[in-house]
Amino acid sequence: MSGEALLVFDDGLTAYDFGRGHPMSPIRVELTIKLARALGVLDQLKVVPAPTADDALLETVHTPEYVAAVKSAGEHPDEADPVHGLGTSDTYCFPRMHEVSAQIVGASVEAARAVWEGDVLHAANIAGGLHHAMPNQASGFCVYNDPAIAIQWLLDHGAERVAYVDVDVHHGDGVQTVFYNDPRVLTVSLHESPTTLFPGTGSAGETGGPGAEGTAVNVALPPGTGDAGWLRAFHAVVPDVVRAFRPQVLVTQHGCDSHVEDPLAHLTKTIDGQRAAYAALHDLAHEVTDGKWVATGGGGYAIIDVVPRAWTHLLAIVAGDPIDPLTPVPEGWREEVQIRFGRVAPMRMTDGQDAKYVDWSTGYNPNTWLDRSIKATRDASFPLLGLDSTY
Ligand SMILES: [Zn+2]
Ligand SMILES: [Zn+2]
Repeated sequence: MSGEALLVFDDGLTAYDFGRGHPMSPIRVELTIKLARALGVLDQLKVVPAPTADDALLETVHTPEYVAAVKSAGEHPDEADPVHGLGTSDTYCFPRMHEVSAQIVGASVEAARAVWEGDVLHAANIAGGLHHAMPNQASGFCVYNDPAIAIQWLLDHGAERVAYVDVDVHHGDGVQTVFYNDPRVLTVSLHESPTTLFPGTGSAGETGGPGAEGTAVNVALPPGTGDAGWLRAFHAVVPDVVRAFRPQVLVTQHGCDSHVEDPLAHLTKTIDGQRAAYAALHDLAHEVTDGKWVATGGGGYAIIDVVPRAWTHLLAIVAGDPIDPLTPVPEGWREEVQIRFGRVAPMRMTDGQDAKYVDWSTGYNPNTWLDRSIKATRDASFPLLGLDSTY
């Protein structure tokens, strides 16, 4: 059951646009909102506009020098600034990039504030989740690290323990880096192996810095991992470490680029597996943090077939009224996709899979890369959190 839930969104957030041909098209956010509206999900959420984060808020995580560099990059988008990761082959400069990126931060912080102060139980910013941004550098399509700034806001407003769970196919390296030496923040990331995917970090041995041992947890999944393997890994690690940490609030990043159709990565999840993961995180929030849950978007580059359905499921879970996977995709939304993009949109809110998995407690098979990865994470992280890595 959910209390009143919040979506922080306005059209300004869709100006986060690296331009034509870039994989991170704001169309994915626009189509998500339209699909959620067509299915009645927005009617069940309180929707408020996104405030813009001021420099002082940005500088709780980023350096003043970097914020100045982003402002300058937006004024001179033709000039590259490789020292700050701006104007690179993946993170292009675009006009007003500071203003738009600061609004995405404002949205995530407003979501965190509303949850922390008890206005709502759950809150979401689907335009957020820009988890690769570093304190002094843009990276991987991410300018300002809105989840890290939202977590820092929580710490600065009285939270003593915050857990962050990142299910994007890429390692949540920026958030991990910001809090690597901070014992108040647990960062958990499940992602494709650093041996096969950007950013090349997130191995099981990254467990937290001095004084914060055990507060970074990484599950590096083999390429090809599908729903059953992904959910097996999730359930073998995430609930145990989050419970052990006893956070007061859960912040989650919902990149849906783990889908088989995503063009930038090599996992093989379906909408059904993603929906199951979102539901599991919702359950975990109710169990561990009295429902205090802040959810963001993230990566996801199959912008028609995957992102709108995945995040509409997410928003429905946030709203407390999950969508039956067999629900048809509304005809009006499909027509708009057909007319604007010349594409046949999915017919249903499911990929026809059942999100089943075999639980870790039934035994471990050392002959599979997946099980060796899960075991490596449990062996590296569980003892540091006072957990038994055997079952
Ligand atoms: Zn709920
Ligand atoms: Zn990603």
